[in-house]
Amino acid sequence: MPEFDLINQFFKPTTIKRDDVLVGIGDDCAILSTPPGKALAISTDTLISGVHFPQSTCAEDIGYKSLAVNLSDLAAMGAEPAWVSLAISLPQADESWLKQFMHGFNQLARQFNLALIGGDTTQGPLSITVNITGFVDASRALKRSQAKVGDSIFVTGNIGDASIGLKAVFNQLKSQPLFTDNNKSECIKRLNRPVPRIKAGQLLTSFSGAAIDISDGLLADLNHICEASSVGALINLQQIPLSQAALNYYGNLPGAQIGGHIDWQSILTGGDDYELCFTCADQQYAQMQDMMESHNIDIFCIGKIIDEPGIKCLHNETLMSLDHTGYNHFK
Ligand code: ADP
Ligand code: MG
Repeated sequence: MPEFDLINQFFKPTTIKRDDVLVGIGDDCAILSTPPGKALAISTDTLISGVHFPQSTCAEDIGYKSLAVNLSDLAAMGAEPAWVSLAISLPQADESWLKQFMHGFNQLARQFNLALIGGDTTQGPLSITVNITGFVDASRALKRSQAKVGDSIFVTGNIGDASIGLKAVFNQLKSQPLFTDNNKSECIKRLNRPVPRIKAGQLLTSFSGAAIDISDGLLADLNHICEASSVGALINLQQIPLSQAALNYYGNLPGAQIGGHIDWQSILTGGDDYELCFTCADQQYAQMQDMMESHNIDIFCIGKIIDEPGIKCLHNETLMSLDHTGYNHFK
């Protein structure tokens, strides 16, 4: 099937309509009308088969995730999603694969009122590049550089499940009697179907802290906030939210104190969590918490921003030494 037929069958007809898309798929460029008073937040992410997702990942999950990781970047700036373009390189014009891919992609596009406005379709090893644009008040965007000494540090949800999911996909799980098949599917779902924290990010623009989305692992990404803000962080490992699945995998019983069984290195550097990590000043803490609660968004305080550079991890008042580096393509 020629490239143009693929575009006309799978990309053009499935996109949602928005009034601000003056010219969409089908011309040399998209023409878009920008809302007065807003700045544009733009981000690009590439997903390469065997690098960003296991080769065995199904098309629907790849479609979902390629959009989810880009939405997550908008969430981390507090932006409102608007437009997306999709450059896809495919080994062959596999119609059923593309149908499934767009099914996963459009699930999120519909949910966030995101119009597909163009892209590129080429033949080659499977690779997907998504470019996303959202709207934000420039003065209220959540920058990495806005953390201040004394701020509390929060995350929006459980950390570490996706890293267990990745081990599961590669059959690298250690046998663990408490860890059920159900737990395993939950972790694989966290890997393949991350929930972009768009609403949380937008709510945070009413406050003055820093934010980042956790793609490379909590320590690596929090370290980006610390470096951009010229501060350090003190983390209490007991306060890091872990799912029951993760507790089961690491051999802890419900309610039991988290012990030395937990592989903190994997949890904090495994990546693919796509939760937000953000900071909030003490004066805004209560108001921020109320606002999150009123939108049923769970947040967890995991530590404090400190003066001394670097990240310190405390476990039962004892300093633990952990390697901070997350995933690095050229290491
Ligand atoms: P050009 O050769 O001018 O770059 P193309 O032939 O690549 O244009 O694409 C034709 C139209 O289809 C353009 O509007 C382009 O944005 C759109 N398009 C191509 N591939 C995709 C895709 N994967 N998803 C969405 N739109 C696409
Ligand atoms: Mg082209």
